[in-house]
Amino acid sequence: MQKNVYVTRPYFPPIEKYFNYIQGAYDNESLTNNGPLVQELTEKLKGKLGVNHLLLVSNGTVALQIAYRLKELANKNVITTPYTFAATSTALAWQGANPTLANINKNSWNIEPNEVEKLLKNQQGNAIVAVNLFGQPCDLDALELLAQKYNVPLIYDSAHALLSTYKGKSIYEYGDIHCISFHATKLFHTIEGGAMVFKDEADYLLAKKLINFGIAEDGIIEQAGINGKLSEIHAAMGLCVFDDLPALVLERKELIAYYHELLGNTVTYQSDRFPHETQPIYMPVQFSCESQALQVEEALNTQGYYPRRYFMPQHYQFLSNAQTSIINDCSLLANKTLCLPLMNNMKKATVNNICEIILKVLRK
Ligand SMILES: *Cc1c(COP(=O)(O)O)cnc(C)c1O
Repeated sequence: MQKNVYVTRPYFPPIEKYFNYIQGAYDNESLTNNGPLVQELTEKLKGKLGVNHLLLVSNGTVALQIAYRLKELANKNVITTPYTFAATSTALAWQGANPTLANINKNSWNIEPNEVEKLLKNQQGNAIVAVNLFGQPCDLDALELLAQKYNVPLIYDSAHALLSTYKGKSIYEYGDIHCISFHATKLFHTIEGGAMVFKDEADYLLAKKLINFGIAEDGIIEQAGINGKLSEIHAAMGLCVFDDLPALVLERKELIAYYHELLGNTVTYQSDRFPHETQPIYMPVQFSCESQALQVEEALNTQGYYPRRYFMPQHYQFLSNAQTSIINDCSLLANKTLCLPLMNNMKKATVNNICEIILKVLRK
């Protein structure tokens, strides 16, 4: 019997290499508090992304919380998308902000700038939190213009988008803060972990204090903070995965291309009108209706394949009732979308099997 194939599997770098880094931590007698491995990983990521202000943190959700805190979003209406992992808006609610949903674009599945503008115009939003969903950038130019025109902070949940680009440019040229997740299920990971990328140095310096209880370098605590530090042991995993990233990206791109080749136009893909590079992190496909998606899911499950219905807006019941119509509307789209298994060390034969099962259901 073959083993079950889930929507994804963490990448496990060679264990000897990991042990070497852990040995280094023992030798340095440093386990956390911005140690040498955290500093090394910070520098490597800054180089790879071409950014100046990058802060490693303990997870992607803490990155969001710090960003929301930094932009003082408590008690404010914050415009965000219904189609995302729950953390984008649960973290807003946790920080005392009021998530205010703007509908998504039906093709890109990302937040629709025109809908954002309607809310801004009616003074129903004091900030924007956009998500580069499944690694595909939002309409970054349009959102940037809106943030300037209405003078509101613009934060990106780039949990899926570490390596994505937009119109040939870095996504980090846009917005005030990007929050990234390095959770084990993401393409690049540190087991648990995350990063924040800042446009302004002042924001970076403040965040650096906030992740360390609010303590400044001179020991003065002017502002309450929290513990959001990444440990050396987590950074060690990141350093191992970092070296393998180009190969991991290439392998997943080939798998995605193979899915496209086999499924062709029998399903609908995430699409947009501007040139961009999507980090190969998920393989979402949309079926013609929810019942078809469920049939496909069931047929795959019986053969040991477990796609996932990322994400289910209708589950976000912590949001206020006022949001119901947008949630329902977005759920119509989300409920017919499945993320197919995609991971490193996945055989093309597995993609073959999965696509055969899907095509058989669709031909019925
Ligand atoms: C994974 C994820 C997060 C949360 O990151 P963690 O590191 O798991 O806390 C936030 N937003 C999105 C869109 C995600 O996919």
